Amino acid sequence: MKNVVLLGSTGSIGTSTIKVAEDLPDRIRLVGLAAGNNAELLAQQTRRHAPEAICIQDETKARELREFFGGSVDVSSGAEGLLKLATLPSADIVLIAIVGTAGLQPALAAIRAGKDIAVASKEILVMAGEIVMSEARKFGVRVLAVDSEHSAIFQCLDGKSSDSVRNLWLTASGGPFRQTPKEEFAAITVERALKHPSWVMGRKITIDSATLFNKGLEMIEARWLFGIGMDRVQVVVHPQSIVHSMVEFVDGSILAQLSTPDMCLPIQYALTYPDRAPSERVQTNFAKIASLTFEDPDLDRFPALKLARHAGTVGGTMPAVLNAANEVAVDAFCDRRINFPQITETVARTMDAHQLVAQPSLDEILAADRAARSAAAEIAARLSTTR
Ligand code: NDP
Repeated sequence: MKNVVLLGSTGSIGTSTIKVAEDLPDRIRLVGLAAGNNAELLAQQTRRHAPEAICIQDETKARELREFFGGSVDVSSGAEGLLKLATLPSADIVLIAIVGTAGLQPALAAIRAGKDIAVASKEILVMAGEIVMSEARKFGVRVLAVDSEHSAIFQCLDGKSSDSVRNLWLTASGGPFRQTPKEEFAAITVERALKHPSWVMGRKITIDSATLFNKGLEMIEARWLFGIGMDRVQVVVHPQSIVHSMVEFVDGSILAQLSTPDMCLPIQYALTYPDRAPSERVQTNFAKIASLTFEDPDLDRFPALKLARHAGTVGGTMPAVLNAANEVAVDAFCDRRINFPQITETVARTMDAHQLVAQPSLDEILAADRAARSAAAEIAARLSTTR
């Protein structure tokens, strides 16, 4: 039995994690749940799973939940509440599925409290991968991947060291605009960008999948999770999303992990690792799939991949700057203040203006994040007036 704290329980990954816990009641117990704003769903989840502690962002909502549950569950709020949940004494593992950067401090707190962490929030490793991985080594805890691509690589590596790897191959669906000519990019609407061809996910990651920033963030995430230089992290477009990623070993042999796309599978593996628990949820029918195809990504139409490779290669504060600028630009696009290609343009200009700190402390990373957000907001505002 694993005692699990789930941060971001009301989101796309969060609700899939709840399904996995319901599939495996003898293996997974949810001892802590944290949400952002959705108090109603958090209350429902609390009634059903009776965790020891819950957390919601806003203190007013926390007070309402305290009154409603009358002391049967510990209710906290805000950033302090997330830290309390991340270090809950009964927890074995903390799954972090909060969109954005709010999961970074709880991830470090969980590690320092001796808990394994399962990471869905890629921002954590993109911003502070070196610090997170070195703290995990120091405290002897595991950092398990929830992202389907990284879970695939983890399964293929199966404990082999980075010396045995020639390349990690991240697969990308290519997103909804894989075949859209560049001249049409400026006219792409928010509604079209939110329709992903193979995955149902939260809003931010769906837009990131359309620009391919999602794959860029995953390249940097892979670099830290598996201790591999950026020059050995490759991307191949695979529209069917059946091969979740691959490892090419030094002898030329390639291992891949395959299944019908369903986030419940990598979530379950992270929570039951090193065991494989029986589940009927994911079924794969090869005859129905019929063909698996692969193509090179088009770096001209999707420059996000080049920006991410650059950020991951120079390292230091640059990945945090890329991540922060992208978050601001995605918001601006969703609010219809900038157009689709201007998301990448905002990120590129913010990165250009950044003064790199090569070996940053956590405080310097957080300062770079804040500075990049205000720089990106100004750049996006300027771009929006020139549309
Ligand atoms: P969603 O937008 O669906 O969910 C985000 C979750 O974070 C919600 O539960 C939200 O709460 C919660 N949240 C936001 N801010 C806070 C906060 N300050 N404190 C506590 N909770 C907060 O996102 P996804 O589930 O799609 O993605 C979550 C993370 O996982 C992202 O980093 C994404 O990149 C990554 N990921 C997602 C995949 C997917 O298939 N969806 C695949 C791989 C990685 P509320 O709704 O109550 O406001």
